[in-house]
Amino acid sequence: MSIIYSSIIAENLPILKRLLLKRSVFEEIRRESEKAYPLEACGVLFGRLEGEEAIVSKYRSLRNVIETPGRFWFSEREWMKVICEERKLGLDYIGLFHSHPRGSPIPSPADRHRMLECPGEVWVIAAYEPKKLFKLCAWVILDLNWSFSKIYITVVQEGISGSHTA
Ligand SMILES: [Zn+2]
Repeated sequence: MSIIYSSIIAENLPILKRLLLKRSVFEEIRRESEKAYPLEACGVLFGRLEGEEAIVSKYRSLRNVIETPGRFWFSEREWMKVICEERKLGLDYIGLFHSHPRGSPIPSPADRHRMLECPGEVWVIAAYEPKKLFKLCAWVILDLNWSFSKIYITVVQEGISGSHTA
């Protein structure tokens, strides 16, 4: 995607302020992070975009094709396939999830490169260490100055939408 095209998209994006994560999705990505350790788990988040909020109701895992700790990537064919399948079911593509098997849920330089290519895509990153730490943060890039915004995450019970927190 060219820089100019990215810029046009970014200017028209709604500003996301909050990510509501269904509890089942929260539990699933915690399990996936644990299972993948010491490698990074990765997958796709789906749900509904409603103004300043994104409601995540479904997670589809992707195979991390980089089998060395500290990085992740996936087959873009597999990524597109799951997006097409979930869109047919009426769900919006919210963004990507991956885990960091170390103490920080902050996007790495490689993560930021990809975020810059897809402005508006939400990145949920889990810092995971066995029996010690599970911390989630959500990020989005909305301009081309490498500045990225943190989005507030709320875990919600199944069947509840809107702003009721768990
Ligand atoms: Zn990362």
